[in-house]
Amino acid sequence: MSVQVFGLPVSRGVAIGRAVLVASSRVDVAHYFVDAAQLPAEIARLKQARDIVSQELGALKDSVGGDAPAELAALLDVHLMLLHDDTLAAATRHWIVERRYNAEWALSAQLEVLARQFDEMEDEYLRERKADLEQVVERLLRALAAKGAPLSPVVPVAARDFAGEDPLILVAGDISPADMLHFRGSVFTGFVTDVGGRNSHTAIVARSLDIPAVVGARDASRLIRQDDWIIVDGDSGVVVVAPSPIVLEEYRFRQRQSHLERERLSRLRAKPAITLDGLKVELLANIESPDDCVAALAAGAEGVGLFRSEFLFMNRAGALPDEDEQFDAYSRVVRAMNGLPVTIRTVDVGADKPLDRISAAELRHEHILNPALGLRAIRWSLADPDMFDVQLRAIFRASAFGPVRLMIPMLSRASEIHATLEAVHRVRSRLDQEGVARGELQVGAMIEVPAAALSMPLFLKYFDFVSIGTNDLIQYTLAIDRADESVAHLYDPWHPVVLKLVLDTIRLATAAGKPVSVCGEMAGDLEFTELLLGFGLRSFSMHPTQLPAVKQKILRTDTQRLQALVAAAVDPESTQAFIQPLARQTRSA
Ligand code: PEP
Ligand code: MG
Repeated sequence: MSVQVFGLPVSRGVAIGRAVLVASSRVDVAHYFVDAAQLPAEIARLKQARDIVSQELGALKDSVGGDAPAELAALLDVHLMLLHDDTLAAATRHWIVERRYNAEWALSAQLEVLARQFDEMEDEYLRERKADLEQVVERLLRALAAKGAPLSPVVPVAARDFAGEDPLILVAGDISPADMLHFRGSVFTGFVTDVGGRNSHTAIVARSLDIPAVVGARDASRLIRQDDWIIVDGDSGVVVVAPSPIVLEEYRFRQRQSHLERERLSRLRAKPAITLDGLKVELLANIESPDDCVAALAAGAEGVGLFRSEFLFMNRAGALPDEDEQFDAYSRVVRAMNGLPVTIRTVDVGADKPLDRISAAELRHEHILNPALGLRAIRWSLADPDMFDVQLRAIFRASAFGPVRLMIPMLSRASEIHATLEAVHRVRSRLDQEGVARGELQVGAMIEVPAAALSMPLFLKYFDFVSIGTNDLIQYTLAIDRADESVAHLYDPWHPVVLKLVLDTIRLATAAGKPVSVCGEMAGDLEFTELLLGFGLRSFSMHPTQLPAVKQKILRTDTQRLQALVAAAVDPESTQAFIQPLARQTRSA
């Protein structure tokens, strides 16, 4: 029977494929297809891991002394039985042979199947055996990791190039932003998660990968079963499980239409973004890794407006990237952009971008009470001056290869501004004393905390440019956690106070003759293009995938017609429902 699950649409497009359920804690398990000729070697890997675990458990059992509780030996027997039971052993092999999943992936897929069966058991004792099963699988995964991946047998293949394979869609309780980034070019053509908000960093990374995604779909990972056919509608937030042939055909049609539309838009690549009344607008790219420069240039970006450097720092078990590694990443971006400006934002970890693998839900519920209000972004950098100096040195060195703008996230007060600028001066002087090659940096601030938006004269006094981070500005103005699906309906970019802060920031910066851009998700959202133009914005930074459609909107806009829209948007009683018809009238006028 077909079922629909509703969540938040965060990355547009339609994906149709088979569900791959992965426990959030195992999202980082390697997922790749095994080349047909190498299947026996992969099965041998699995068997070898099983032998190792079998020996481990046997040795443990032998070492249990006579004075140990009897339950201990019995428990080890249960683990041994689970290890060799066909529901794990044979079924895992089945995933490898039939689907050509690598051993780790096959194991975690089968674990998900069995975990559900345990959850549904009436008998409490049996239900609790799920934890034992998880421990056995954990041991097997460790044994596979210890042996390492085979040297040549596997071929990581993107699903799209893998003719004959069904497309696959990842379904998980949660995916961290850093894990999501690892799925670039992976086998997955869509994502569904139970938790997350529209502008959570996981959602932002999914958008940047341009893979249809629905987050905050609450029960999705419970309702969807391993291998179910599902449709992910990244435009409406609906996930259709086991669709009927008619529904399937309708979505396939939409898939084709959206491909055609993208192809059409890509022809705008070289066209400058100029409004109908002749105003030139700068379109920049948001990137998460040096590899994204290819997409930025292909989309016709005129530079990088936001390089989220924190992804270099995440999931490394606390071992931060050193100066050379950072220099290498930053200079790769600067060189790739070939003379176009590159805005490098200093590290913004914390909140829903923890340094190490811990989910946003865990952070929220178990570890840190208010991570979004905690040691995040510049606060984190200033709390560790040595780490901050290393990053600044690397950015200065990269600026020898092209124009670089240094951008500071989450500033909210004069003392932070002074401490930041002192660090910049200190690092610059030291590099000069050492005779290290560097360029000049423009230094800018993100305006993403209401305290910053309300003290623009201070920011304009000290910084060369500002960039509005609407994602956080909304979160902090409205006191709504951007990653929490339970309050997602209150995360409202149309709130007149949010829009008033954006408008005032643009007006004050423009009046002071300082460049101002928007690099939050609002910049790439077609619903806001006209309004931001009406606010006076002339520089937008967004994911490369959003750029062509925004350009098309700009090409069709006459900014002379936007006054009424602007006035309505910041009216204290205004709402999205009130403004949108007005925007439509503006277009048809
Ligand atoms: C923002 O807050 O709008 C922004 C661009 O930064 P991030 O989404 O990385 O917090
Ligand atoms: Mg931000």
